[in-house]
Amino acid sequence: MTTITNHLPTAELQRLDAAHHMHPFTTGDALNKKGARVITKARGVFLTDSEGIEILDGMAGLWCVNIGYGREEMAEAAARQIRELTYYNTFFQTTHVPAIALAAKLAELAPGDLNHVFFAGSGSEANDTNLRMVRTYWAQKGQPERNIVIARKNGYHGSTMGGGSLGGMAPIHSQGGLPIPNIHHIGQPHWYAEGGDMSPEEFGLQRAQELEAAILEFGPERVAAFIGEAVQGAGGVIIPPSTYWPEIQRICKKYDILLIVDEVITGFGRTGNWFACETFGIEPDIITVAKGLSSGYQPIGGSIVGDKVAAVINACEFNHGYTYSGHPVAAAVALENLRILEEEKVLDHVREVAAPYLKAKWEALADHPLVGEAKICGMMGSIALTPDKASRAKFASEEGTVGLICRERCFANSLVMRHVGDRMIISPPLVITPAEIDILIERATKSLDECLAAVKERGLY
Ligand code: PMP
Repeated sequence: MTTITNHLPTAELQRLDAAHHMHPFTTGDALNKKGARVITKARGVFLTDSEGIEILDGMAGLWCVNIGYGREEMAEAAARQIRELTYYNTFFQTTHVPAIALAAKLAELAPGDLNHVFFAGSGSEANDTNLRMVRTYWAQKGQPERNIVIARKNGYHGSTMGGGSLGGMAPIHSQGGLPIPNIHHIGQPHWYAEGGDMSPEEFGLQRAQELEAAILEFGPERVAAFIGEAVQGAGGVIIPPSTYWPEIQRICKKYDILLIVDEVITGFGRTGNWFACETFGIEPDIITVAKGLSSGYQPIGGSIVGDKVAAVINACEFNHGYTYSGHPVAAAVALENLRILEEEKVLDHVREVAAPYLKAKWEALADHPLVGEAKICGMMGSIALTPDKASRAKFASEEGTVGLICRERCFANSLVMRHVGDRMIISPPLVITPAEIDILIERATKSLDECLAAVKERGLY
């Protein structure tokens, strides 16, 4: 058998990929016909493909590579841990130093009394943990019927049975029997698309109050928890109006509903603080983390749990766990990532340099004829594409057609910028420099210009 390496021709790698590799969230046949772009290397904020082309990664992989690609210290941390203790579990009365150290570090960094960590291998797994944990919490307190979890339409919490059910995405729910029972979805705080004539503040309040209406409809004695992303990511980087989270917090407190904030994207500096709960003033009972916890160098996630919930869960045997919960190599790599974030003052860089610089340039994209709004929170931003700014109109084409054209233009111009429907989104590595932000904006503008030309040609503008 031929050894498959970077040295094979691109066409051969694509042929093998098409023959054997099933891609997530992809129509395999269509991709296999054209061939996937083969990414072979990455350093800092740049990817390199098998043709030697350098691409600026405006998405930090999948919102995860916060410290940038290719850090030698991270490779060393993994190698050291593999030599010391490759693997051990924490199921049967044992523990190990990387899991202890990472849990203690997360307790130190997380706000409030979020002092306890249940590890998982990913964000989806961590949200599955959360779902079982909040239901178990109420069952232990003698209220097993309190098992409904309220989430949002167009939220994203992963693609396992639990995570996909908590998420509110129709294409996910349409396959495989989701959502599972006793999960209810309320409206999202997406003012641009759904706010009509209301002010963003009025709309934010109204959407938060849908939570209260749902609680009263089911009866508070049936509702276990509410879950939401601090800022919706995969839904299109939807930054909630300022009125939204305080109202959600008030309602959860009033009815004693547990509050889970999914910080899989927003955790570890993306909004300028360690956690977006600090940015938005939220006091959750549990937060979900993954992605930036290890900057994507190893698969690891977890639930950071407050004292109240942990006290109840610790009093029973919680029949839940993953072979790789707290994997020593993943934990050691995550610890090294946190050391880099702290010692290199990456959050200061975000707050003082990268985020303000990016914000000014990003918001200026709202002047482009194709852009209806340009929003950004820390280092995650979105722009809405529209044929008519004033009315925030949609294109006559199927939703996502123009977004896809724009994304393809970006890719051709060596920029990774993702589309969600007809919204374009970015979430670059936090270590991106002003000079690299200039490149990002220059390529984004060129791609928008080309997209506008293509849209005009198709009579959509
Ligand atoms: N929650 C949020 C907010 C996410 O953005 C994601 C992944 N995009 C997940 C959960 C799921 O994480 P994973 O893909 O690691 O399972």
